[in-house]
Amino acid sequence: MKIGIVGAGSAGLFAANELGKANLPDVEIKVFDQGPQVDKRYCAISEGLACAECYPCKIMAGIGGAGAYSSGILNLNENIGGNLGILCKKVGLNANDVINEIDDFFVTNGAPDNIYDPYENKEKLNELRQKCVSVDVRFIPIRQRLLGTENTPEIIKTIQEHLENDYNIQIYPNTKIYRFDEKKSLYFNNNPNGKSENFDVLLITPGRWGMLWLAENCEALGIKTFYLPLDIGVRVEIPSIIIADICEKIQRDPKFHIITPTYHDFLRTFCVNHKGYVVKENYEENIVGVNGHQFTSEGDSENSNFAFLIRQRLTSPLEDTTEYGRAISKQASILGGYKPLIQTLGDLRSGHRSRNSLIDKNPVQPTLNDTTPGDIAMAYPYRFVKDILEGLKILDKIIPGVNNDSTLIYAPEFKRSAKLIDMNAFMESKKIKNMFFAGDGAGVSRGIVGAAVTGIIAAKGIIRNITSSK
Ligand SMILES: Cc1cc2nc3c(=O)[nH]c(=O)nc-3n(C[C@H](O)[C@H](O)[C@H](O)COP(=O)(O)OP(=O)(O)OC[C@H]3O[C@@H](n4cnc5c(N)ncnc54)[C@H](O)[C@@H]3O)c2cc1C
Repeated sequence: MKIGIVGAGSAGLFAANELGKANLPDVEIKVFDQGPQVDKRYCAISEGLACAECYPCKIMAGIGGAGAYSSGILNLNENIGGNLGILCKKVGLNANDVINEIDDFFVTNGAPDNIYDPYENKEKLNELRQKCVSVDVRFIPIRQRLLGTENTPEIIKTIQEHLENDYNIQIYPNTKIYRFDEKKSLYFNNNPNGKSENFDVLLITPGRWGMLWLAENCEALGIKTFYLPLDIGVRVEIPSIIIADICEKIQRDPKFHIITPTYHDFLRTFCVNHKGYVVKENYEENIVGVNGHQFTSEGDSENSNFAFLIRQRLTSPLEDTTEYGRAISKQASILGGYKPLIQTLGDLRSGHRSRNSLIDKNPVQPTLNDTTPGDIAMAYPYRFVKDILEGLKILDKIIPGVNNDSTLIYAPEFKRSAKLIDMNAFMESKKIKNMFFAGDGAGVSRGIVGAAVTGIIAAKGIIRNITSSK
């Protein structure tokens, strides 16, 4: 029995570990990863960032996946990084138990002991929750462990050695898979008659870098794929002092969920960079965007920034959320002369474009200067502008000052989603038996822990198939 795993990111490695632990007799496990390679043309920030869904550059990850290049924040909460509670429940698992197991595994393999826990400061947490509840905002408290950019490579190396030495799993770096087929063969060469290897079971976990490749391959095999909602919005920049109490005493990346009054859209804060910097990103086709960056050689800034994102699902005839997001971002990029747009909230609210002379006098000074002062309302649909204005007004009751005229708004800010692959609760293709998918690339997770959870579920599905066929 041969099991082939494509991708040695969080999903692939945790699946391999689960399969190794099962100690299945006469089973050979091979893991292939194309990386590492760095495409500097797109790499806006090379030092690794701080949040779960950022997709800022096109580093082709190696063993350890995208997480190996990040500061490695483990979000230990079933509501973050995917619908982990639901995914686990469907296969009879308890999400908290699985998440704790993943956390323990990281610690066993060298992750730092300390944990950021909002429940430690119960009084402050309850005060915040009370404020949130009074204005119908949901606050998501999350326990977090920080692997740390400096520790991540060593942790990944220890995990790799554990899989190779204790379970005899064979891991192949620098090995790109060009395609897979219904017979569960993996092709190592672009040439249709090139080298290939047959497997009894495949698990494909190519992450976000492989999401388009995965969707195309699945569609070629008649496996259905579905568009997921788009996350689009703006990056908001404020004086750090107004959010310090929350970021420093309760949660460094506070997550607020809001349902907007007019359109009932889901709006959330994401990737809060306390005392951080806004950064510009370059995507393909002359599309620019913004993101947030916490750690730089310049030290702390006087500002904090966060993404304020609306989740939008589309239905027929235009279900393609990627295309819709791209069209809006392209419009914003064109208007900004291929630089992100910047506008004060006061100007956005009163229908004026911002100008350099005004930004220069603004009490909040931007941490990103490679921008064009403009009017975001000319680039974004009315609905999204309304959502953002309503959302900031509500958030002001929790973070007083966030709705000030001087607050800076940058656009476009968007997060791309993978396409969801048609599979059963154990992450197995509904069309092709013994073909499994997991992780961010298959549209079921967003984040290191989420991807690991889905890898474990897929591994349990594989074990179930193998043991029931004997
Ligand atoms: C800069 C940055 C910072 C981040 N920070 C955090 C954070 O702090 N906390 C957090 O929870 N999440 C963070 N994330 C997200 C997190 O890294 C991902 O959610 C997670 O790694 C997804 O795991 P995965 O296994 O699905 O995919 P990945 O980790 O992306 O791994 C997929 C692997 O598959 C390989 N691959 C792809 N295609 C092929 C192919 N055709 N053949 C062979 N191999 C292939 C890739 O090389 C890669 O190694 C960050 C992401 C980035 C980019």
